[in-house]
Amino acid sequence: MKDLSGWGRYPRLSGPLGTARDMGPAATATATMPGVTARGLGRSYGDAAIGRDNTIDATGLNRMQSFDPQTGILAVEAGVPLADIIATFLPQGYFPCAVPGTRFVTVGGMIASDVHGKNQHIHGTFGDHVAWLMLALPDGRVMRCSPHEHADLFKATIGGMGLTGTILSAGFRLKQVETGWIRQTTHVARNLSEAVTLLSQTANATYTVAWIDVLARGASLGRSLILEGEHATADDLPWGDVKFPPSTNGRLAVPMDMPGWLLNGMTVRAFNELYYRTGARKAGQTTTVPWDSYFFPLDGIAHWNRIYGRRGFVQHQCVIPMAQAEGVVSDILERISSHGAGSFLAVLKRLAPGSGLMSFPMEGLTLALDMPFSDGLMPLLAEIDALVVAADGRLYLAKDATQSRDTFAAGYLNLDLFRQLRNDIGATGRMASKLSERLGL
Ligand SMILES: Cc1cc2nc3c(=O)[nH]c(=O)nc-3n(C[C@H](O)[C@H](O)[C@H](O)COP(=O)(O)OP(=O)(O)OC[C@H]3O[C@@H](n4cnc5c(N)ncnc54)[C@H](O)[C@@H]3O)c2cc1C
Repeated sequence: MKDLSGWGRYPRLSGPLGTARDMGPAATATATMPGVTARGLGRSYGDAAIGRDNTIDATGLNRMQSFDPQTGILAVEAGVPLADIIATFLPQGYFPCAVPGTRFVTVGGMIASDVHGKNQHIHGTFGDHVAWLMLALPDGRVMRCSPHEHADLFKATIGGMGLTGTILSAGFRLKQVETGWIRQTTHVARNLSEAVTLLSQTANATYTVAWIDVLARGASLGRSLILEGEHATADDLPWGDVKFPPSTNGRLAVPMDMPGWLLNGMTVRAFNELYYRTGARKAGQTTTVPWDSYFFPLDGIAHWNRIYGRRGFVQHQCVIPMAQAEGVVSDILERISSHGAGSFLAVLKRLAPGSGLMSFPMEGLTLALDMPFSDGLMPLLAEIDALVVAADGRLYLAKDATQSRDTFAAGYLNLDLFRQLRNDIGATGRMASKLSERLGL
């Protein structure tokens, strides 16, 4: 038995965890174990990567298989970490077409969550760049799925949270980049309305994201720094700069759980104030920053999830359709600010529709924020979820640990199709996680 949790360390559960070191044993485990789901690097926040009865650790599937420089298609086993892909291919001038906010995730995890990056509004999710995948089904078959082969299963597996089978390997596109640097332009929004306008005005930029101060109130509610980014060309670099800088972050670590009293409204407010004011000094400026600090700023501090203390934390990420987005996000921020539950760095971003049957993105604004677990948190989240449902929005399953079945069903309109497909392949009740049990899948 192993203690298992997601990155938020809520909930913490225990259960059997078996490591698959090869694709054959991973397929056998999928076909023989009841209530099973695969697990990558456990960077989903809640209970998605914890099997109902059994969990397959897929990080042993860690071999890269082939790379075709003509098409940019890289074929790897599903447990290969994104960090290894970048370390291997960036020095050769290739970068993944979509990356989430941490590089400590596996290819299987990125496909199963259909992760989105700062360019999702233009270039789609990770799933949009997957050419094919090999899927181990609960009945023992291993199927090659692609937009042209078993297309329904392919579509359901992208964003399907491991509930259609175990992804054994996949081929996906890398794009060519001239350097490993990003030209970053900082814009300052003094309130939510300015942030929404700036996100629209920067929508043609390849990458755009807003870091939002969730504890600001009154006229400053929603004040944000909007970071626009483009891959730098060789000509953008000062003479003598190395074209592909190695990763610099990961040298600091939070050594232990921080005591609960450290994280109070005052410390979080002070941090956000400092972050906003420091960023605001760069308003309108363009600087060239290394890839890791632009895409993965939080990876700079190992075990940063310990900051939230022993009880862990919840990341709440919703998406609200554009027509209602500003009003609903404002309402959510007001409630969080008066509750004092806000996080260090919250993110606001524009999204375009996702392509998987159960993909999270839709045309709208997404707000993601961390909240330390406390006795008063559940009622606050229930209030916020009701606002999301009323606006026809939904919550991201890769972050979720708390939403109700009703909230889930209201947001995921393809749920019946997904259930039907799971029935057809014999996955209902067999491929099962704590998340699927909680949400009645
Ligand atoms: C700091 C941080 C920043 C993040 N930023 C973003 C972001 O910007 N955008 C975004 O979209 N997400 C983001 N995430 C979420 C993260 O990208 C996803 O949760 C991703 O799925 C984690 O990958 P993993 O390998 O850790 O998977 P796990 O957390 O281990 O598993 C996640 C899901 O994938 C399934 N799965 C894993 N491997 C397989 C497999 N081989 N076959 C079938 N199913 C499998 C699991 O069953 C589970 O349902 C962030 C997470 C963190 C911690």
